[in-house]
Amino acid sequence: MTELPPPERPLPKGAVTRQVVRELERALGKERVLSTPEELIAYEFDGTIERGTPQAVVFPESTEHVAAAVQIAHRFDVPVIPRGAGTGLSGGAVAAIGGIIVALARMKRILEIDAVNRIAVVEPGVVNLDLTKAVAPLGLYYAPDPSSQRACTIGGNVAENAGGPHCLAHGATTNHVLGVEVVLADGEVAWLGGRTRDVPGYDLAGAFVGSEGTLGIATKIVVRLMRTPESTRTLLAVFDSVDDASNAVSATIGAGILPTALEMMDKNIIAAIEPVLHAGFPLDAEAILLIEVEGLEEATVEQADVIHGICHSNNAREIRIAVGQADRDLLWAARKTSISALGRLYPNYYVLDGVVPRTRLPAVLREVYAISAKYGLDVANVFHAGDGNLHPNLLFDDRIPGTTARVLEAGAEIMRLCVDVGGSITGEHGVGLEKRDFLAWIFDDTDLAVMGRLKAAFKAGENYNPCKAFPTHKGCGELSQAHVARVAAAVGADVYV
Ligand SMILES: Cc1cc2nc3c(=O)[nH]c(=O)nc-3n(C[C@H](O)[C@H](O)[C@H](O)COP(=O)(O)OP(=O)(O)OC[C@H]3O[C@@H](n4cnc5c(N)ncnc54)[C@H](O)[C@@H]3O)c2cc1C
Repeated sequence: MTELPPPERPLPKGAVTRQVVRELERALGKERVLSTPEELIAYEFDGTIERGTPQAVVFPESTEHVAAAVQIAHRFDVPVIPRGAGTGLSGGAVAAIGGIIVALARMKRILEIDAVNRIAVVEPGVVNLDLTKAVAPLGLYYAPDPSSQRACTIGGNVAENAGGPHCLAHGATTNHVLGVEVVLADGEVAWLGGRTRDVPGYDLAGAFVGSEGTLGIATKIVVRLMRTPESTRTLLAVFDSVDDASNAVSATIGAGILPTALEMMDKNIIAAIEPVLHAGFPLDAEAILLIEVEGLEEATVEQADVIHGICHSNNAREIRIAVGQADRDLLWAARKTSISALGRLYPNYYVLDGVVPRTRLPAVLREVYAISAKYGLDVANVFHAGDGNLHPNLLFDDRIPGTTARVLEAGAEIMRLCVDVGGSITGEHGVGLEKRDFLAWIFDDTDLAVMGRLKAAFKAGENYNPCKAFPTHKGCGELSQAHVARVAAAVGADVYV
């Protein structure tokens, strides 16, 4: 790659000047750079309530473009923020202290499909569902299926170690990524992992997955593909109590059955989606479970039978088995659009993401409702119950002064609750901007220092997606809307390690 000339004059840290923009335009082409205020507005946010304005957005179409943009950022000492589809739910793609957003949406080629070895090599901007669509004719699919899969990208999934309804049995993104080509903070390009599971040396691809854009930018990804199962059975169980539904979740797994998906939706979620999707969810039910098993025909018939019995003995008032693909698709469409449908109920929602031991679900859910009520907020729950992965959605109207602060405090209290019962502060959406100060509830200084040293080994300094994932960045404290440090302190200073 051609060396670019040094900057004309020293710049204040974090400044993206006309000169930086000119250099980006020269290296990538003008048509791949945005820098006017009105162009940048669309890149101020992702799927959460965090906001931050970048000074430039670039749209690379190759690894070389990414490396060139990163090199320029490195020379001018300005922040770099990778971005996929911007559906993230922890503020990971938000330019918290400004800088250059590297938007990977145009790198969306599926480079290789190797059906025999069941792998695919993709660019980071490939939309999750598009990969499954591309390999479906070969009897294959890509297993991690976030509910946002019609929009989110494989690069974003890798960065967040995304999960999804079907990750209960098949594991999250990390279980499906074999190798990653990465642009490091100085513009160098490295391969982590490879095309098979048993690559010698440190599992650096494993370390990269879930690193939230703080170690490098993924420019090519080798993923595992799964064989489409012979048979799938989808059940819908309707309950008059959230407790009964939660108990049915634990009982199912306790009985030795591991469904591929085990999802719960509560009354407020049903109220949001049923009028839109007409999936047959009773509006007066307190909770419904969507349960799916897959495998050989005989096994799924048998498992569906056992699950039917378990739901029945946990007081399900109605149990339905999807008849045919269309019925099944409708149930999943309802589940996967449920969060977006919340816009029907309130102008804003704040999606939380915590994990609790499955057996604690009934007690934790009761407490989630109690905390929300204490803060005067409505809450809607839709979540991967089988994983103990909760998603309380706090519903609010941010035009009412003081409401957002109340929502954030309620959110922090719910996160603390998850940690107190032996769980964690994120199941799949990442730490991002929102929860970095909550890490101290889980890790001590030594643990965090080890992570810091890993970051240093990747040569990723303060400029590589700053303010994300770790409480260590300087100058980020007041910038997150969440004021997480203050809230974290308010809900308790105990540390669990
Ligand atoms: C309605 C809805 C439902 C959702 N359901 C789920 C769900 O079921 N499971 C789940 O896990 N998540 C879910 N999410 C969250 C979100 O879709 C995932 O976190 C997803 O992985 C983000 O992908 P993205 O392409 O939008 O990434 P972005 O939001 O653009 O970025 C996310 C993070 O990845 C980094 N990043 C992006 N691309 C790269 C790259 N190439 N290299 C390095 N870093 C990169 C960014 O810097 C940022 O930190 C949902 C979101 C919505 C809005």
